[in-house]
Amino acid sequence: MAASACRVLLVYPAFFGETFWNYSEVCKLLGARYTAAPLGLITVAAMLPDSWQVRLINRNTEELTEADIAWADMVMTGGMLLQQADTLDIIRRSQEQGKCAVVGGPDVTSSPHIYSGADFMVLGEAEGVIDKFTAAWEAGERSGRFEAEKFAIDVTKTPIPRFDLLKFDHYLYVGVQYSRGCPFTCEFCDIIELYGRVPRAKTNQQMLAELDRLHELGYRGHVDFVDDNLIGNKKAVKAFLPDLARWAKDRDYPFEFSTEASINLSDDTELMSLMRDANFFAVFVGIESPDPETLRLMRKKQNTRRNIAESIHKIYSYGMFVNAGFILGFDSEKESVADTMVELIEEAAIPLCVVGLLYALPGTQLTRRLEKEGRLHPQHDVFTPGDQCTHGLNFEPARPLREILLDYKNVLERVFDPVTYAKRLDRMISMLDRSGRPQELHRDDLRGKFGSMEKVHRIMSGLPAREVFWKTLTFSVKNKPAVMNSLLMLMAVYLHLGPYSRYAIGAAERRLAALDGPDLVPAVAAE
Ligand code: SF4
Repeated sequence: MAASACRVLLVYPAFFGETFWNYSEVCKLLGARYTAAPLGLITVAAMLPDSWQVRLINRNTEELTEADIAWADMVMTGGMLLQQADTLDIIRRSQEQGKCAVVGGPDVTSSPHIYSGADFMVLGEAEGVIDKFTAAWEAGERSGRFEAEKFAIDVTKTPIPRFDLLKFDHYLYVGVQYSRGCPFTCEFCDIIELYGRVPRAKTNQQMLAELDRLHELGYRGHVDFVDDNLIGNKKAVKAFLPDLARWAKDRDYPFEFSTEASINLSDDTELMSLMRDANFFAVFVGIESPDPETLRLMRKKQNTRRNIAESIHKIYSYGMFVNAGFILGFDSEKESVADTMVELIEEAAIPLCVVGLLYALPGTQLTRRLEKEGRLHPQHDVFTPGDQCTHGLNFEPARPLREILLDYKNVLERVFDPVTYAKRLDRMISMLDRSGRPQELHRDDLRGKFGSMEKVHRIMSGLPAREVFWKTLTFSVKNKPAVMNSLLMLMAVYLHLGPYSRYAIGAAERRLAALDGPDLVPAVAAE
């Protein structure tokens, strides 16, 4: 039976409040409205029947009006925990206008009870249930719950995302996905719960067809492989990267890539060479803690039995800078954690660090353990505006909360001090070997704007401790021109990180003040 017409409004929910991740000052500087484009929804869009009309609204970049909702037969929405409040609002608004609200994505998959008011719930990876959902709609059903079998989706059948729905000039970068799942066992991680521990990768041809599509549509610049661990299946990615490198070279390097990878990337020189040849410029690595015992207990064994700083320096020697994640609040943390964490960040020379408070995400091993131990806060899975930097520790920690918050404040103050940041940037730049790389960004790459006199002036005039940043900049202009793009980008990022770190410090101070207050105000309510 041929599918009938249906108008689908895809609405990507807003991330409310200040977050580490929105890089608002960088967006302003480059004229973008938000960092990343919504890859999940445009992938779902590609799975819908051809006869269905689809529009996309990203609430982080544009308004959702009554007229938009009035146009639609159904509104599809959903996202991560940080988007929970807006997702619920979109569902409410759609239903108030008499429209069917469909919710999918990671947060509803982990916490379906929160979204029980939606008309349809699509849980798990969409490929596994979308056909059943569309058939139900065609049959006249207007509510239901569809759940994909876990970890069973064959991603080699996933269609090319509808990149044509994106307004490229709204974003700093566009994401693509090569694989899902990660072989490791980190206790706090929800990726292995949502996507499994056996990474599933797309075919080389399929992945290059996605990049071809982006290229045909005229996009140039930064492309992020959103995989939670690109090197989860090393054999597959090593077979893919040479094809990617050839593809990029044949087209005169239209894209520069970033991704996330586990730290064992640094043990594999072949893999780092392949990534360098394919034009990867940045990798996010989860370091989490400086303490080997804490790493062992959180089941992040891949970070133990190694010199972490040397591992990071090795990645720098392949021309990729490292952004890293750190977390405070683990049970086994020592009193010295603030000092050892700052020392590691300094020794490794990682300018851009996400330092957050441990958050028990729904459905994780950590949450299950804390639940058994009776330590989870009620409402632990209900979002409050902010992120893990301002609203972590949704459980009773083993160390006194006061000590953790004081340590957290201490780490933020030292790591994001402008002089300290500038000096780490200087040391990182001295280790970053960009020889043998294309020296220029593609002429249509948005990040090329960083190099204009006007933007350099705006970056420098916005930075505190200007003389330290100037020294690094002038040294690089003369001696290391190949690192200029990375350098200017990380300087511009400080325009966001400096104010954001002060905001996160303020949030920690308010939590500390609430602990001292006569009527112990709940921490989240105080913010
Ligand atoms: S390495 Fe990253 S993606 Fe893999 S289990 Fe650990 S936190 Fe999750």
